Amino acid sequence: MEKKVDIDWSNLSFGYMKTDFRYISRWKDGKWDDGQLTEDNVLHISEASTALHYGQQCFEGLKAYRTKDNKIQLFRPDENGKRLNRSCERVMMPEVPVEKFIDACKQVVKANEHFVPPYGSGATLYLRPFVIGVGDNLGVKPAPEFIFAIFCVPVGPYFKGGMAPVNFTTTDFDRAAPMGTGKAKVGGNYAGSLRPHEAAVKKGFADCIYLDPATHTKIEEVGAANFFGITKDDKFITPLSESILPSITKYSLMHIAKEYLKLEVLERDVLVDNLDEFKEAGACGTAAVITPIGGIEHQGNLHVFHSETEVGPVTKKLYDTLYGIQFGDVKAPEGWIYEV
Ligand SMILES: *Cc1c(COP(=O)(O)O)cnc(C)c1O
Repeated sequence: MEKKVDIDWSNLSFGYMKTDFRYISRWKDGKWDDGQLTEDNVLHISEASTALHYGQQCFEGLKAYRTKDNKIQLFRPDENGKRLNRSCERVMMPEVPVEKFIDACKQVVKANEHFVPPYGSGATLYLRPFVIGVGDNLGVKPAPEFIFAIFCVPVGPYFKGGMAPVNFTTTDFDRAAPMGTGKAKVGGNYAGSLRPHEAAVKKGFADCIYLDPATHTKIEEVGAANFFGITKDDKFITPLSESILPSITKYSLMHIAKEYLKLEVLERDVLVDNLDEFKEAGACGTAAVITPIGGIEHQGNLHVFHSETEVGPVTKKLYDTLYGIQFGDVKAPEGWIYEV
């Protein structure tokens, strides 16, 4: 008999909940073990682990979607696997073979199948893979041992009552240095973002916008999401920089803008003093898919794009197409969907 869980799918938020199984694999003496599922959600690691002292760790985030015909699918998990490896490479951790990564994702989803929200609820099963340096160590050097693990949590639709634009404010803080770890999905980038995020929220904004760390004139990231703008002549523009985290959602939207919406697509500088060139703007990432940007406050002035209350038509089309692909209602480009 299929297992049932008592969850109010329509009222889920983005918060932790213990699900039944998680995957864990250990690296020791130059290789990963086969990995296994476990019910234990507590890690027992050395007090001297590099992940705890020197931030030697990285993570990923992706979702499992239930389709209309009750299948479960992952969206571009190979891209998450490849990005995890680029992050590992940057902070000197061993790579996880992409096949191992995808297989582990599938194992976790299958073992927690009853936690995958029903089609139509807008909710999904969020997967959090991570690699951490563990084992006894004191000096600043790579750890002697590593853990690769994945847990999952059902999460609600980001927008309960429909998509609504929100406002952002620029911050004087930087999330990453010009040639630092901005391109890698490492926890260290996040510890430093907690304070500017808190300051932006206190001022009544959804989050802060990070400008390029070298000159503070160009938009880089919107909180923990990538920025895109639609110009008045219908071009999809997104910033190009070494310190931006390469969002898989962003690259997917670039493809959708070009192939489905027939827009010109460009990665280039986005000057914070030239926001007038855009008729619409948004933030994108796995959690929200797209967050429409109502306005951006910079040095005391609020620049409003399409509207502070309504989603622009291009943004809406991009959102509907990507959302449709992820839930299996719109034909996906080849290789984007992995059935579990
Ligand atoms: C994960 C992340 C994103 C979004 O990436 P997706 O692959 O689209 O989920 C954007 N910015 C930062 C800083 C991130 O960590």
